[in-house]
Amino acid sequence: MNYNGLTGKVVTPGDPEYNLARQEYNEAIDAYPAAIIYCFNPCDVANAILWSREHDIKLRVRSGGHNYEGYSTGTNKLVIDITCMNGMIVDTADDTVEIQAGTRLLPLYERLYQCGYAFPGGTCPTVAISGLVLGGGIGLSTRYLGLTTDSLIEAEMVDACGNQLTVNHYCNPELFWALRGAGGGNFGVVTSYKFKLLKQVNQITLIRLRWDNNIPARIQFLRIWQDWLLCLDRRLSAFGGIYKLGAWMNAFFYGSPHEARQILAPLLYIPRLTLEYIESVPFIDAIKMIGADYPKREAFQQVGRFVYEHLRQDELENLIYIIDNAPSDRNSSIRVYSLGGAIRDTETNATAFFYRHANYIMAITTSWESKEEAPVHEEWVKAGFNYIYTITRGAYVNFPYNQTPNYECNYYGEHIRRLMHIKQEYDPHNIFSFPQSIKPSL
Ligand SMILES: Cc1cc2nc3c(=O)[nH]c(=O)nc-3n(C[C@H](O)[C@H](O)[C@H](O)COP(=O)(O)OP(=O)(O)OC[C@H]3O[C@@H](n4cnc5c(N)ncnc54)[C@H](O)[C@@H]3O)c2cc1C
Repeated sequence: MNYNGLTGKVVTPGDPEYNLARQEYNEAIDAYPAAIIYCFNPCDVANAILWSREHDIKLRVRSGGHNYEGYSTGTNKLVIDITCMNGMIVDTADDTVEIQAGTRLLPLYERLYQCGYAFPGGTCPTVAISGLVLGGGIGLSTRYLGLTTDSLIEAEMVDACGNQLTVNHYCNPELFWALRGAGGGNFGVVTSYKFKLLKQVNQITLIRLRWDNNIPARIQFLRIWQDWLLCLDRRLSAFGGIYKLGAWMNAFFYGSPHEARQILAPLLYIPRLTLEYIESVPFIDAIKMIGADYPKREAFQQVGRFVYEHLRQDELENLIYIIDNAPSDRNSSIRVYSLGGAIRDTETNATAFFYRHANYIMAITTSWESKEEAPVHEEWVKAGFNYIYTITRGAYVNFPYNQTPNYECNYYGEHIRRLMHIKQEYDPHNIFSFPQSIKPSL
């Protein structure tokens, strides 16, 4: 193949680093791209888009490579990789930061913390800003500071013709609307972002609760969680879950440990806690302690959907039945991610993120060690998904699942029509496509 015209660093199947370069975070993804082009600036990105069109080789866009279904890579595709574009400029005078699109979350948190800021990002240190913010972005500061995408004030994007666009409320405003919740891989390659920084922070309260080897705690946790969340102080955001042997919850609270204990009282009443950590720590330490839970890479499947309704006892029992039949004692779980609070300060129609009024996200997830185990785990997720589908309303595009029926409506609800028009305007030839991408309107 002739790679003339590509600029940046090209890695092809014959190169020694190809095997490493083709890997995604999810080890279950096993794609063999035609080439991977590491871009260093927007011109490299534009050249890659034009090269792929000229050679009729489909492209995929990759930043952190954490998409669950591997939509940032593909066999015989050109992968446009942005990870080398990872600079940041913080402006403390007007409380903003410019972040290049390949920046991963831990260096981002560290740099901002040095300047005194918290940031409403996610919990995994190696997820990149791009996939996170373009799909919404939830984490342990979300109820207090909003979705990651709610802090976005501008983006630079290279479109399907290789043009560099500035995207904000005034330039390309419809595209700006679309990028905030539906931007991942659909409209162009974003090369940098500008965010408003919302809060100066030093200490926060880190909360870690576990009920290990405590089977009754599981249903109690789910029952209390859904009521507790409804009038929860917005300074507290939490991720938790149940597994075969127990339950857990991690949270950040922007207040004192003493106040946190009072807020947590209903959960602390669940008997036989095996870990009760409620301590004031520097924000960055809290980020690192939660981040340390993630393996470097793993083979897994996960799907997440939005919960609006109060679940009845029989529905909670069905979830327990699913977890009792999980393929792994420790690595299979049903997880819950708090929403509400500041997410609802933004109007539903103000950005493409549709499910602003959900109470929380429920995900089913499992990971495995060897390829042979995969089918059993995938079957379990499918069966669990089929049930969870009936008690939830839509799906979080950053927790995608290739078996989701009518995925456009599931990810984007009533916003899908508007998104298809924007797609038609910016990418009428569907250059940016993947198995669950937005199609141009006819
Ligand atoms: C271990 C783990 C923990 C996670 N924790 C959280 C969490 O706490 N909160 C949360 O909200 N989500 C979380 N996620 C989900 C995560 O937000 C998504 O997987 C996200 O899309 C990953 O972004 P990425 O850039 O790392 O991945 P990639 O796979 O590189 O990209 C994801 C999608 O965005 C597109 N894309 C990437 N870069 C660009 C770009 N520059 N321009 C346009 N499109 C682009 C890709 O084509 C792909 O469709 C987690 C995922 C994992 C695997």
